[in-house]
Amino acid sequence: MTVRVGINGYGTIGKRVACAVKAQDDMEIVGVTKTRPSYEARLAEMEKFPLYTAEEEQISTFEKEGIATKGSLKDLLEVADIIVDCTPGGVGERYRKMYEEAGVKAIFQGGEEHGLTGVSFNAFANYSEAWGANFARVVSCNTTGLVRTLFPIDHAYGIESVAATIVRRGADPADNKGSALNAIEPSLKLPTHHGPDVQTIMPWLNITTMVVKVPTTLMHVHCITINLKKPAKEQDILAVWDSAPRVRFVNGKYGIKSTAQIMEFAKDLGRSRGDFMEIAVWQDGVKVRDNTLYYYQAVHQESDVVPENIDCIRAMMKLEADGMKSIQKTNSTLGISK
Ligand code: NAD
Repeated sequence: MTVRVGINGYGTIGKRVACAVKAQDDMEIVGVTKTRPSYEARLAEMEKFPLYTAEEEQISTFEKEGIATKGSLKDLLEVADIIVDCTPGGVGERYRKMYEEAGVKAIFQGGEEHGLTGVSFNAFANYSEAWGANFARVVSCNTTGLVRTLFPIDHAYGIESVAATIVRRGADPADNKGSALNAIEPSLKLPTHHGPDVQTIMPWLNITTMVVKVPTTLMHVHCITINLKKPAKEQDILAVWDSAPRVRFVNGKYGIKSTAQIMEFAKDLGRSRGDFMEIAVWQDGVKVRDNTLYYYQAVHQESDVVPENIDCIRAMMKLEADGMKSIQKTNSTLGISK
């Protein structure tokens, strides 16, 4: 069975998920939506993705620009088994009813609330929770990053408490809106919503988070302090992450001292769009003192959630019962080493 996937919102996340679906042999793209006849609409044509508009009234503006569409989202819902909703945060919830009435499953992104679906997803931590679900939400880039490294450590050593400071990129590289050019902006609503968001997947975890927004576009950096339940040495912690999926070490000693060098490394690896889908942990920035573990990690916000969307499709469509097998299949098709 090849699952028919539609993308609503062919933007930063949507176009990446579409290309990732295209790389799989058990699913295919049956259509993507755009609201305006922008360059991304032409990109969809180049990728040979059938193009739909979000609203019926938008079709004529595409026709005026010489861009053919197959109809609107309403028509896409007739040919899709599942929609990956990649519309801007807060917009997706408006579409839930439409998906439900069409009898089409849907995955929402981290900009939506947990309550919209009741299932928040990370492939390694809770693959089975999305099994056969009609609706699920792939958590945000930051929450995905936190869960990727916290879940395996909690499993191996137990976590008493976590305090994480998220140094957030101000905007995505292609955005023309975002943070101030020359300012560091602390989030004044404390603790921030990221801790409760991690708890949508690890409800037992005692975690608090703080955030500062900085004028950079490349990646986020997390500064994390964990109080462990059982004693561990640095090499024990590194061994846990070494066998955890989608966590990759980088090393200041070998010249990767910043997010700029991680992005350069991604390009050197020949990654599509220069994406880095793994969470990068600085191997030489991991320290344990008594029962306290300190580490830094970097999150490529535009791409770390992409493989999670693919695994979420497999779980919801019951394509693969074993989460690890799905993770490995996704990784091998997207060039992720583990
Ligand atoms: P984006 O603005 O880059 O793309 C959104 C797309 O949706 C655009 O193509 C836009 O034209 C389209 N759109 C806008 N209004 C629409 C509507 N009413 N109906 C249909 N399509 C509409 O946004 P993004 O960064 O890709 O974010 C999408 C979702 O992914 C959000 O929930 C966001 O929180 C989440 N997310 C974003 C990032 C990131 O860093 N960019 C990381 C992880 C998760």
